[in-house]
Amino acid sequence: MPKMSERLNGFTESIIRKMTRIANKYGAVNLSQGFPDFDPPKEIKEELIKVADEGPHQYEITWGSQKLREALSKKQRKFMGIAIDPNKEIVITCGSTEAMMVSMMTVCNPGDKVVVFSPFYENYGADAILCGAEPIYVPLNPPEFNFDKEELIKAFEQRPKAIILCNPSNPTGKVFTMEELQFIADLAKKYDTFVITDEVYEHIVMKPNKHHYMASLPGMFERTISCSSLSKTYAITGWRIGYVIAPENIIENAKKVHDFLTVGAAAPLQAAILAGINLPDKYYEDLTELYTKKRELFLKGLDEAGLKYTKPEGAYYVMIDISEFTDGSDVEFCEWLAKEVGVAAVPGSSFFKEDVNNYIRFHFAKNEDTLLEAIKRLKTLREKAKLTRI
Ligand code: GLN
Repeated sequence: MPKMSERLNGFTESIIRKMTRIANKYGAVNLSQGFPDFDPPKEIKEELIKVADEGPHQYEITWGSQKLREALSKKQRKFMGIAIDPNKEIVITCGSTEAMMVSMMTVCNPGDKVVVFSPFYENYGADAILCGAEPIYVPLNPPEFNFDKEELIKAFEQRPKAIILCNPSNPTGKVFTMEELQFIADLAKKYDTFVITDEVYEHIVMKPNKHHYMASLPGMFERTISCSSLSKTYAITGWRIGYVIAPENIIENAKKVHDFLTVGAAAPLQAAILAGINLPDKYYEDLTELYTKKRELFLKGLDEAGLKYTKPEGAYYVMIDISEFTDGSDVEFCEWLAKEVGVAAVPGSSFFKEDVNNYIRFHFAKNEDTLLEAIKRLKTLREKAKLTRI
């Protein structure tokens, strides 16, 4: 038989999605793969019913429906503070997952280097390998997950084509400060590097932290490729709608990659989500409040269970230090946790390039009842850990 692509040797299947299967196997509360167990706003569901009846059901314009591009450009102009041409500076994609892949393929040649902060959302490594690029990892050092400026400078000295910036960050919950962003921006300008952002948690930032868009920093729009998604903002992770915002010369090429990869995002869903984009600004304030409450509830539970964590500033993840329970594999710990305690987490090692095995990631995008059940079970962790060798 002929051999299959060697590209695939560089990465494994998604550990996040594997953990969901393990959660289901043991009937564990699934705090691994980050998705809500609550519905999108009723306005969106009602619109979906209407669209089922009235259409569209056929292909949309490949780079996204005119109405959605216009609505998104208007919304993002308000939040990003920059005018975005709906015809030339935005492409609608199948989630931020496709947006990131399209961005990488648009700017990278095989052999190009790409800076990735570690720990990182697992797709970035696979994206880099799939387009033949070579990642340069720069650690975000636990427990605060800050980077060392000298290490970042050294990475830029290798003349990378792009840096990937997940802000607010998955898995750490870090929100980059203006000073950090400015430092990255200055290096990107100095070394003529693109910045590819993943900002899917842009509306989930707990006060007093604030989300700053890299594209809005002075002189950065021309070299920033902003990727985001509607999944987390409107609790529609299964709809797979995302977008890329960038200057016209980049979008021209991104459109080509997108067209040949997927043709386009689902037409009926592009129509139905307009009801979400057109929600008043209060929706985003309420969303921040909702997630702040969930964070407080969950962190209080972790305190009661005596677990050590780094307080997230944004997104809906929290990293737990498990070193007091095991000095073995975090993967085995997560399997044990799902089976014996009944709560599923993602092993931290699936996010770190470095040899770090003492973290696991929970997410808290769940209803209060689900979080309370998880906390109840987590309170048994300490006792159960004493009885078992993990
Ligand atoms: N972004 C989510 C997470 O990190 C979902 C990942 C996925 O399965 N697409 O858990």
